[in-house]
Amino acid sequence: MRKNYDNIQIIRGDITTAKVDCIVNAANSWLIPGGGVDHAIHQAAGPELAIAVKKFRHCDPGNAVITPGFNLKATSVIHAVGPIWNKSENTEEHEQVLSKTYQSIYELATKHAIQSIAIPNISTGVYDFPKDLAAEIVWQTTLAFLNTSQSKMKIFFYCFDAENYNLYTRFLQKLKS
Ligand code: ADP
Repeated sequence: MRKNYDNIQIIRGDITTAKVDCIVNAANSWLIPGGGVDHAIHQAAGPELAIAVKKFRHCDPGNAVITPGFNLKATSVIHAVGPIWNKSENTEEHEQVLSKTYQSIYELATKHAIQSIAIPNISTGVYDFPKDLAAEIVWQTTLAFLNTSQSKMKIFFYCFDAENYNLYTRFLQKLKS
């Protein structure tokens, strides 16, 4: 019998090279091109992407908006805003917002009939979310989505650094064992 995680793959590399229907961007609330993965996606998509996403004006953490992919191989880009980690604040709230960010991605992707999606490790760069905790939340949220929706969407987790890649592959191995 097929398992809910059979459509999940972990890739180590640059998300802009992904051959999928949709690439997810780790955007900021102002929807203005920033650094990290956001910079890489805007560079690869071309200047039209910044114009298209700015039409939404603003996006609160936990939410997401969708635009075309322009020069990318992907037809569309989901711009999702993750939480900014700050250990002196209510970190439980940050955890909930990270989960909501991934829920928003899956909801929007489902609504747009996206069959394959590439997702980076949102909030684990400049936004400083602890990578191990983020990976746990992402896996929980993703498996909950797959269990309730029975979705056949192919999910590619693009991990840029070794730590995230190792964390994600360990989660997948644990599920398979
Ligand atoms: P955030 O502000 O949400 O933390 P960052 O872009 O700073 O966003 O980092 C999010 C994650 O994206 C980090 O784990 C970083 O290593 C990763 N990343 C950076 N560039 C790329 C890329 N070209 N492809 C995939 N992941 C990337």
